[in-house]
Formats: sequence, structure tokens, C-alpha cells
Amino acid sequence: MDREAVPGAEVDGRRRIGRTDVLLADRRLAEAAGRLGRGVVKAAVVAAQHRARAGEIPPDAVADAAVASLPVTASGLRPVLNATGVLLHTNLGRAPLSDAAREAVAVASGATDVELDLETGRRAGRGRSALAALLERVPQAEAAHVVNNGAAALVLAATVLAPGREIVISRGEMVEIGDGFRIPELLSATGARLREVGTTNRTAPDDYAAAVGEETGFILKVHPSNFRITGFTRGADVGELAGLGVPVVADIGSGLLAPEPLLPDEPDAASMLKAGAHLVTASGDKLLGGPQCGLVLGREDLVRRLARHPLARALRVDKMTLAALEATVRGPRSPTEQALHADAGKLRERAERLAGRLRGDGVDAFAVESEAAVGGGGAPGVVLPSAAVSLPEPYAARLRQGVPAVMGRVEDGRCLLDLRSVPPGQDGDLAGAVRAAAR
Ligand SMILES: *Cc1c(COP(=O)(O)O)cnc(C)c1O
Repeated sequence: MDREAVPGAEVDGRRRIGRTDVLLADRRLAEAAGRLGRGVVKAAVVAAQHRARAGEIPPDAVADAAVASLPVTASGLRPVLNATGVLLHTNLGRAPLSDAAREAVAVASGATDVELDLETGRRAGRGRSALAALLERVPQAEAAHVVNNGAAALVLAATVLAPGREIVISRGEMVEIGDGFRIPELLSATGARLREVGTTNRTAPDDYAAAVGEETGFILKVHPSNFRITGFTRGADVGELAGLGVPVVADIGSGLLAPEPLLPDEPDAASMLKAGAHLVTASGDKLLGGPQCGLVLGREDLVRRLARHPLARALRVDKMTLAALEATVRGPRSPTEQALHADAGKLRERAERLAGRLRGDGVDAFAVESEAAVGGGGAPGVVLPSAAVSLPEPYAARLRQGVPAVMGRVEDGRCLLDLRSVPPGQDGDLAGAVRAAAR
């Protein structure tokens, strides 16, 4: 390491730990301050001085330690290799973006024509090309609108279509999304009243018909995206409710635009609209594999009312989200879609190859069969056959704290790195992270 980079370091007397301002003059740290900001680099220096005072590192290694601990970017968010086998991991930010979407985000992050027609020089509809992309993929929708997330799409629908009025909803569809957020409470917070119909396990079309009246704003169908009710059950299809004289809004959750043969129980926007739903709401960062956003697709007059409501301004998405969404919809298969469709035999080959390489480096690693899941509020109970590299349990914590961080899962006293949620191009990074954790 480059020690002479601290020219004539003045030292903190007895302990010989370099002074902060002197350390910050180190060429590498000065360069990093230009890139990451002085505050970020100073924090790394202070932490390294602390470690030296505690005797964890020699006093003359402070600059090196500070350099080694610098974050990748000026943000506290660190890159993580998702080896949990959960494709949409909520705590890891759900869907990872495709390269196409990342490039679109990078371009849109500067000044961009999000609301400008460069041809005429006049103002133009915000996000028009992203909306056009959605409508091309879902021709059954007359119009589309994009908000902050799936919850925002529901809030907007309730605010606009049922102000002070009733939303008719089945007792079997009163869903808690996660982290204590409940769709019924979200809807009530808008001032709409919930008119519950049916029972937990059975709700028939007649239950809806009996509840619809003067006070009805709309009927809401919520996809039970994170649980299943089986046994003596009965539900009403959108098609059976479309003729009751009030709008039917279908919250499909996952954001599938068209049917996905591998997940036959997951609803999709095109099929719902074809069946008669007047509006569909969904998340962009679940099975669609795009950025966090909420999609509203359906009848033109309804979509326009939502998009023109004052609240729409508070829920609107930024230019980078629009760019990522469009690139996801138009671009190549998203990482989520690729992971979902990954061949189990190929995953096994990757696991064998990776484990073999690691054993060659002296790591106690072997390939095992594994079970992956969609996660993140999609396809509950669906098991995706997968393969993993099995390591001794202590690797789990060490890998989590490495750079890049690797998140595996601990099962039966072993740390499993499930490859279905790791893009094949990152196997080398994964091997490198394990080797670093072995040291
Ligand atoms: C995930 C989900 C939501 C909430 O969407 P967010 O994008 O997380 O706000 C709403 N409804 C259903 C059925 C969901 O699965």
C-alpha cells in the first residue's frame, strides 16, 4: 500500500496516529473527497483513527484503513448480491433493474425532455413515452397513469372514485401488505367507507350485487398476493361483477402485464381488463421487474379523472422512474423474469462449478438442491426448484459485511447461496466475495 502518500505526516505524539487534516491530504483520500464529498471521507478517517486508538490497527495504517473503508458511492446504500433465493426481496428493494433500465436512469438523471417536445420547443405530456409503452403492451387499456407505488394507485382511486362513499370489498380480500400496512386502513384513510361483503372464505357475486347501491363508489377486487385460502372457498370473478353498474377496480399487485405461464394463479392486467375490470392497479417493482411505481390502467374517462385530481401531483413519479419503467417495458427481459425462467439444470451446473472453484481455494463448499420463491408479495406457495452453494454458517455474517455484500440464507446450520436470484454474470463476484470472507 501507498504509505508515502502521507508526506511528513505529523503525528499525535505518544500514539503516532496521524492528525485528521494531515490524513485528509493523502492523495487517495483527497481524490475520494472530490468524488464522494469531504464529509464522507472524513468520517472514514475518524473511524480509522478510532480503530488505531483501540489498538485494532497499527497507527501507521490509518490512511490505508480509511481508504479501504470508503463507501462505493456518496450514498449509504450499498450494492448487495441477492443470494437468498427470494427473487423479489422487500428488504433488498424488490426488483433489481435491467441494464437497459439502469442506462435509461443514468441518462434521465440529468436534464431531460420529460415534459418537453424538442421538435416544437413546447411543453409536452409528462412521461408520454412510458405511458405509450404500457399501452402498447396492454392494448386492452384505453389509458394509463403512473404513481409512486401500488398503494398510491389505490389511494388515488379511492379518493377520486369514492369520496365519502363506499368501496365494496370481500372479507376474504382485506389484505395486510407488509410492515403493518393494511389495504382496508389505507382506503379508509382517504375518507371512503368500506362495505364488506361475504366471509373470509366465501364471497359470491350476489353478495356484491346486494351491497351495491346509491352509496357505492366502486367495487374493489384485491389479489391475495401474499397468502392463500384453500378448501371450502368461493370468490367472484371480475367478469361476474362488471355488469353491476359501478366501476370495478382490480388491484392485481404483481404488475404482470400479460399472463405468465409459470405462475398460472397470478392475475395480469390484460386478462383483468378483458374480463371486464374498468381499472387495474399494480406495482412496478414486483413481477414486472421495474422500478418502484404504481400502475393504473383502464378506461380512459376514469384514468383521466385520476390523473387530473389535485392529489395526483403529490403522488407523481420522477423522471428516473419513468425512464426505468419504459426501459423495463420496452427492453430485454428483466432480471426478475430471467430469474423466474432460469432452468433448474443450469442452476445446478452453476452451483457445481462455483462450489468446485471454492473447494479448490480450500473453502468447505458444495452444491445442494434448493427451493427458491418469488417473494415480495407475489405467487405465495409457489416453489421454484433451484440450486445453492452450501457454506459453513459463519460465512453468512461475513458475506453480509463484505464488499459487495452478499445476502444468503441460513438453513439447517449451513449458509446457502441460492443462485436463482443471482444473475449468471455475477457468479465471479460471488466467488470473489466468498474467497474474501474465507480470509
Ligand atoms: C404489493 C401490493 C400492494 C402494495 O403495492 P406497493 O407497490 O407495495 O405500494 C397492494 N396490493 C397488492 C395486492 C399487493 O400485492
